Amino acid sequence: MFRWIFNVWARFRPYRTEWVEDLPDDLHKNTVYIIGGRKHPFYAAIVCPRKTCRQVIHLDLSPQVDKRWRIIEHVDGQISLSPSVHVTGLPCRCHYWLRKGRIVWSESPSFFVPEENRHD
Ligand SMILES: [Zn+2]
Repeated sequence: MFRWIFNVWARFRPYRTEWVEDLPDDLHKNTVYIIGGRKHPFYAAIVCPRKTCRQVIHLDLSPQVDKRWRIIEHVDGQISLSPSVHVTGLPCRCHYWLRKGRIVWSESPSFFVPEENRHD
């Protein structure tokens, strides 16, 4: 029961959004960095939320690129990314959505949180 509550809590902890001109050297987890600032966002970076992974994931937002992500900023300042983030070509193979500042893992059930993320 505790575990279940913990998982739900982890799922609903929101991400922060940082609109920056350049990617900082030190990246915090639970943060979406949008590089280029609000005027010309051209890529987003997040630290992979899976604890055993922690890869920095770069997502192209540039309109010139075919395979690009869109960012949606909600009224409360939270960010959604479309489509989902699916890491291929790296061992982690993490697959998740960022919806309204929350990570939603692609695994079911819908409140799934990877085992290694459950006790932080
Ligand atoms: Zn990963």
